[in-house]
Amino acid sequence: MKITIVGTGYVGLVTGVCLANLGNITVCYDTDKKKIKQLQEWKAPIYERGLEKILKIINVSQSKKKIKTKKIIFTDDPQEAIRGSEIIFITVGTPPKKNGKVNLSFVKNVAQTIGRFMNGYAVVVNKSTVPVGTARLVKKIISRHNNKNFDVVSNPEFLREGNAVEDFTNPERIIIGAESQKARKIINNLYRSFNCPILNTDIETAEMIKYASNAFLATKISFINEIANVCEKAGADVNGVAKGMGMDSRIGKSFLEAGLGYGGSCFPKDVKALHSIALSNNYRFKLLKSVIQVNNDQKKLLAEKVKKLLGSLKNKKICLWGLAFKPNTDDFRESAAVDLIRLFQKEGVATSAYDPKVNYEEFINRNNFKSKINFHLDKYAALKNRDALVIITEWNEFKKADLNKIKKSLKNPVVIDGRNIYDLEKMKKLGFKYVGVGRQKNKNS
Ligand code: NAD
Repeated sequence: MKITIVGTGYVGLVTGVCLANLGNITVCYDTDKKKIKQLQEWKAPIYERGLEKILKIINVSQSKKKIKTKKIIFTDDPQEAIRGSEIIFITVGTPPKKNGKVNLSFVKNVAQTIGRFMNGYAVVVNKSTVPVGTARLVKKIISRHNNKNFDVVSNPEFLREGNAVEDFTNPERIIIGAESQKARKIINNLYRSFNCPILNTDIETAEMIKYASNAFLATKISFINEIANVCEKAGADVNGVAKGMGMDSRIGKSFLEAGLGYGGSCFPKDVKALHSIALSNNYRFKLLKSVIQVNNDQKKLLAEKVKKLLGSLKNKKICLWGLAFKPNTDDFRESAAVDLIRLFQKEGVATSAYDPKVNYEEFINRNNFKSKINFHLDKYAALKNRDALVIITEWNEFKKADLNKIKKSLKNPVVIDGRNIYDLEKMKKLGFKYVGVGRQKNKNS
């Protein structure tokens, strides 16, 4: 069976590579020629733990065994990708428009391409996160260009960047929303070796499950951040509060880390999208509006803390550790780093930065910053001559950093920790001026 993946980004590439690794014949198609060229040279265009390793294994097995039918092909030719394919995954981006609504232009484009080249029965599987009704729209567009029999299925993806290969291979659940029994059977069969429950639903329910899940997790993050803000005023420690809350299995431990809030390519856009989906169905989702507001405010509150500790921000030199929106990924989309650099530059701060994985050139190219950022390849070098260090991303190497070296490298021993990675008492003993988010001692700082 030939499986095609349209869009080889975080979701598409991981899906394609993992399905190939399970023994399927997979064709990964993308309009980005640079990406495809890199993949044809067996280099992953994104950083995702374990991905390069699987690519290497497939490459070796394809070349050594001289298999006639290759397990995986990377192409920018839509005809080669789609003709003869029995399962076609749509995994293109669904970015937000300025008004918070979902930009479906990439999905619509793909539907047209599928309609143009599909030459026999195929199940078109939508993995992109899309509003309720999109599968039907995709069906309509394909039908306009093609009179072959086909079905559209909704199969939202729940992988987390940074852990994508593991999440795709060992998911907690698989959701399959289908109308046709034939298509449902084919997709259930594709996932038969996965060791997790499969929930079969109608198409619309599957589409909504994805948004409801992400919005719920984002709500948990904004909730604990609100608790953190109250903790600071009342003199409690949010880490202890979260620990105590998480011991209750009805609440659960995850997504209770206070800090700079959620970021990345999914939560911010999906929360806004659900809010706007509700509005277009004449419902005001009041809770989500607050979730968004709280998340935006967390960065401003942190900038205020920096200002308070340094007296003023004007002409100050600040180092940021971490540009990625979370650890173990090179993705900086909607990262707190972007907002904070903008806030700092507006106040006349000179910024330096270090991140172990983010591509600095891309970071600059994709964000229109007011002034220059001094990027470094060594985290301690980035601290030289700086008035303060701000922790943005909780990378392990920051957690394990040599605190004495941080102190020696900085001009002033000031650390503002947006992810609560250091011990308050230890930092105090070492002579740091140190604040985190929602921790008891902030009250007197
Ligand atoms: P991405 O931006 O990393 O990748 C999208 C890819 O699609 C790009 O390589 C782009 O060049 C390609 N593309 C665009 N138009 C195309 C076309 N017409 N034909 C072929 N290729 C085309 O996006 P992503 O992060 O992988 O997300 C994809 C979808 O999955 C989104 O809807 C997202 O919300 C959802 N999702 C993402 C994650 C995540 O962690 N990134 C997790 C679950 C779900």
